[in-house]
Amino acid sequence: MKTKIMKFGGTTLDSSLKRMEIAHLIKEEGQKYKLVVVVSAMGRMGSPYATDTLINYLKEKKFSKKEYSMLSSCGEVISSVVLSAELQTINIKSIALTGGEAGIQTHYKDDQTKIKYINSKKLEGYLDEGYIPIVAGFQGEREDRSITTLDRGGSDITGTSLGNSLNADLIEIYTDVAGIRTTDPSIVNDSMLISNLTYSQAELMANNGAEIIHPEAIKWASIRKIPILIKKIASNEETRIEYARTKSISKSNKALGITIDTNHQESKITIIEPYKELDSHHIHLFLLKNIVYSYAYKNKGNCISFKVSSEDMPKAIKLIHKALFMKKSQEVLNV
Ligand code: ASP
Ligand code: MG
Repeated sequence: MKTKIMKFGGTTLDSSLKRMEIAHLIKEEGQKYKLVVVVSAMGRMGSPYATDTLINYLKEKKFSKKEYSMLSSCGEVISSVVLSAELQTINIKSIALTGGEAGIQTHYKDDQTKIKYINSKKLEGYLDEGYIPIVAGFQGEREDRSITTLDRGGSDITGTSLGNSLNADLIEIYTDVAGIRTTDPSIVNDSMLISNLTYSQAELMANNGAEIIHPEAIKWASIRKIPILIKKIASNEETRIEYARTKSISKSNKALGITIDTNHQESKITIIEPYKELDSHHIHLFLLKNIVYSYAYKNKGNCISFKVSSEDMPKAIKLIHKALFMKKSQEVLNV
């Protein structure tokens, strides 16, 4: 039987109805695969056990790294227990595990908590006994067994690093958007699905602000070339990230996607190119002509980046997206 990792993000778990739906999906998939499930903390800021809500208790207080990790790791622990209980209620043999119990050992390196190694013996033991382990994401433990937490968004890292250590066949990441889009769908509502990306293309997008998957998570999956699917529950649209593209990009596609990285007043817009054929100077002129003041554009590898004010960012994104992805308007850019 093949092994699959299913990772569920916080917004996919934020209501009892959604958790029930997930439990039924796990039940179905459990008949085809050996499954390890990884969960994030439920909901976003404001939800009682979301990571930001928990961290907010420490605002303007003094605390140690250890205490920060103890508090912020609770959200994922709660999710794992709640989902495991949901599964047991529909007669699925499951067990909730902390990151440490799943064998994730971390160390402190370059000012960050990183996974040092994973001892997946215990996890494999549970799989052999027919359990579906529900692992709390975003956490591990140190040699002295104290709880540690990974980078923000680190449940993705938990998912793919466990996939690597179990030599899984597939890693599925469930979020609230159906796959990776050509740009942020909350700004451009006719953004399109990117059905296929290589690890390095996805990493470029993630490193430039596309909040689709943690860039470090892609690295772990790439070690053994395990495909990652970015999915939404009950949607057929998905993005497959893998070593080599299974579908080639048509030569008329000058851009793969446009990412946004907003930092207060200023936003960085990055165009990721498959073939390095775009002329950044043209695009810059095109923006200026359309009264979006942009500056400091630079080409780096397969990326062209511009800075615009955060106020102008939505307008600039809409303009560039239309010009690059709507066929007729490609002429505007002289591409
Ligand atoms: N809950 C953690 C965070 O908000 C980890 C994750 O969601 O991946 O950063
Ligand atoms: Mg995330």
